Amino acid sequence: MELLKGKEASEAIKKQLLSQTQTLKQKKLRLPHLAAILVGNNGASETYVANKVKNCEEIGLTSSLIRFDEKLSESQLLNKVQELNNDENIDGILVQLPLPKHIIEQKVINLINPAKDVDGFHPVNIGKLVQGSPTFIPATPYGIILLMQYYNIEAQGKHAVVIGRSNIVGRPVSILLSSNQTYGNATVTLCHSHTPNLKELSLQADILVAALGKPGFVTGDMVKNDAVVIDVGITRVQDATAKKGFRIRGDVNFDEVSSKASYITPVPGGVGVMTIAALLKNTMHAYLMRNNLTEDIFSE
Ligand code: NAD
Repeated sequence: MELLKGKEASEAIKKQLLSQTQTLKQKKLRLPHLAAILVGNNGASETYVANKVKNCEEIGLTSSLIRFDEKLSESQLLNKVQELNNDENIDGILVQLPLPKHIIEQKVINLINPAKDVDGFHPVNIGKLVQGSPTFIPATPYGIILLMQYYNIEAQGKHAVVIGRSNIVGRPVSILLSSNQTYGNATVTLCHSHTPNLKELSLQADILVAALGKPGFVTGDMVKNDAVVIDVGITRVQDATAKKGFRIRGDVNFDEVSSKASYITPVPGGVGVMTIAALLKNTMHAYLMRNNLTEDIFSE
């Protein structure tokens, strides 16, 4: 079994992005700018956004964290998004989900300028993803593809089973792995909470992606020998012995599954860190596109 070390792969991506921002600085160009909006005080969201901002700083991207009280009205949030859409100096807009219940998330996502939609959730970008056209791939699915590429794991001809069909993880992962792209060409089975014979299907998986948010759900008896196992789950499980009072658990029972898998992602240090690296890559991509530049600028 080999660990798919997201930390190592994401560091390699960040190193490349750092060298790109340094080149932009040398050329005296404006640097890419990511604006992140956080509404309320959800502990997990606070951690995710803080990590995103910290990672921007590490690679020389400009970032702005815009915080609002959870009582913020929907129209106030929409106004802010519009303001960021109109701001020429902002390249990427990220609205941390989930939003408070009185705000309709899709309304907010739909208002983001697709050219600044670095999370890739706008219907225009989802449409392009389905078409196989260049677009912003949602950060977690993109991070999974980048991690597989880092370890030269090919999906072509394999049977991939994805557990979970959310719009941000499971469904786009299933589209990417089944697409006619170098990273795709797998035969994909997408499972969800109404799938009756899940174990029968998961046992057929050459690549198993678990994205359901149920800690330790995938047990050893559900996995075929030598499968590639990607654990997307991040759940805070209370633990009085832990410093913060909780531990992060994935959707896979690591002890049982790691002895059968050929490759497996750890949690933490697997998909989570890759998600951030993918977001940073999307922000650089947005910047280049908005300025009519290509990656050639980094080798000129
Ligand atoms: P979600 O709640 O939106 O979707 C969960 C999906 O799992 C649903 O489609 C549901 O049908 C399916 N499901 C639930 N119970 C099931 C069962 N018993 N059998 C089969 N399918 C079942 O979740 P999400 O937003 O996709 O997130 C999933 C997990 O991934 C969570 O733990 C979340 O925290 C984590 N996550 C991690 C990252 C990262 O960067 N690593 C990013 C996003 C989400």
